Amino acid sequence: MPELPEVETIRRQLAAFVEGCRVGRLEVLDPRFCAPAPPDDLTRPLTGRRIERLERRGKYLVWAFEGEVFLVMHLRMTGTLLLVEPGDPAVRPHLRVRVALDSGAAVLFCDPRRFGTGAVLEGRDGLEAHLAPRVGIEPLGSAFTSEALWVLARGRRAPVKAFLLAQDRVAGVGNIYADEALHRAGIHPLRPVGTLRRAQIAALRDAVVGVLEAGIDAKGATIDDFRHADGARGSFQDRFQVHRREGEPCPRCATPVRKLRAAGRGTYVCERCQPRPRARRATKSQTMAPVATRRSTSTPSTTR
Ligand SMILES: [Zn+2]
Repeated sequence: MPELPEVETIRRQLAAFVEGCRVGRLEVLDPRFCAPAPPDDLTRPLTGRRIERLERRGKYLVWAFEGEVFLVMHLRMTGTLLLVEPGDPAVRPHLRVRVALDSGAAVLFCDPRRFGTGAVLEGRDGLEAHLAPRVGIEPLGSAFTSEALWVLARGRRAPVKAFLLAQDRVAGVGNIYADEALHRAGIHPLRPVGTLRRAQIAALRDAVVGVLEAGIDAKGATIDDFRHADGARGSFQDRFQVHRREGEPCPRCATPVRKLRAAGRGTYVCERCQPRPRARRATKSQTMAPVATRRSTSTPSTTR
C-alpha cells in the first residue's frame, strides 16, 4: 500500500504537469471509485474547472480546484496515478478514472483491486470536516513535535506499532515506515505506547520523520504495485534495515531480523536493538485481533 512517501512522490511528479490546467473531460469508468455518490457527482463539478494545486494530507492526495472545490483521493492498496502524454490513447489495464486535461495530457487512475476512492468536497471547511476524523497529525509538519507525540501516546495501552498505523493519530505511516522507524528508534513494536519514556518518544518522533524523509528522497519504495506517475519505480526498498529482511543480519548489531505479527501485520524487528517488552505485556496485541483477522482474509499479501 502506498504510504506517505509514495503519495508525496506521486504528488510532486504530477503537480508540475497538472497545476494550472483545466479538466477537459473526466470519466469515472468504475462507479465503485466514488460510491455511494454517483459518478455524476464528480464529473459535473470538476469538468472545465482549473486545478490550482495538488496537496497531500497523510496518505490522501487532495486536488484543489478553483472556487474551493476539492477532489480527495485515496490510492488504498494497489491504486496508481499515471500521467500520459498528448496523443497517447490513454488506455491502461485496470483503468478506473481518466482525467483529460486541456493541455492534451491525461491522468489515469489504475487500480487492480479497486479499493481506491475519490470524493468531491466544497469549501475548505467541507474538506477539513471530511479529513478530520480520518487524518491525524501530519508527521512532516511543524506540529509534529515530541511533545505532541507524547500527548497522543499518553495513557494508551496499544502496541506502539498499532498506534503508528492508526491514521487518525499520526497520518501517513504504514507498515514499511513503522517497522523502519521503530528499528531506528530502538523500540519493540509490541511495546505499549503509553509506557514509552520521554526520551524514547523523542527518538520515535525523530525516527518517523527520518524514515519518511529518506523514503521521499528515494522516491518511495516499490513493492507490489507502486509506480511513479511516469511508470518508474522507487528505490527505498533497497534501503530497508529490517522490513522484509527476515533472517538477515541487523545492519547495526548483526542479530538476525525476526518476523512477528503486530497490529495484524507482518512485522520485522531486531530483538537486540529493540528489546521485547517484559513478560505478558506483549499479549496486549491480542486487542488488535479483529483487525488481524480481517486483514489476513482480505490481504494475504501483507503477511509475507
Ligand atoms: Zn540490531
